[in-house]
Amino acid sequence: MTHASHASTPTALRDALLAQRAELLARMAYERGGVIGRAEVAAEHYDTAASDNAQLRTERETNFAISEHETAELADIERALEHMNLGDYGTCIDCEIAIPPARLLATPTAQRCLACQSAHEVAHPQP
Ligand SMILES: [Zn+2]
Repeated sequence: MTHASHASTPTALRDALLAQRAELLARMAYERGGVIGRAEVAAEHYDTAASDNAQLRTERETNFAISEHETAELADIERALEHMNLGDYGTCIDCEIAIPPARLLATPTAQRCLACQSAHEVAHPQP
């Protein structure tokens, strides 16, 4: 352990992001592979009446929402990896200071320092 990683080459963070991406891609592939939802299995198994269609529909919508979320998450990961390749990873996109390592460890896809993130969330509230 004589050679500590330089701050500008966050290998651990890159590995974390790559692992996160691999897991995400596997999950998305699994979900897009026509996996039958639990409600669907239940409906087939018990051959239930039309009253269960609402539950079925809800589950499909839920799956779709999860997929949307994962697509956004994947985009965040890809962008973070791209910034690592460009060498400007960990720089706040708003005020351009170096984002504290503790924040990057907690949120490897963070694009802003905490102050700018707070300001951004106030300006663009998430639903
Ligand atoms: Zn900032």
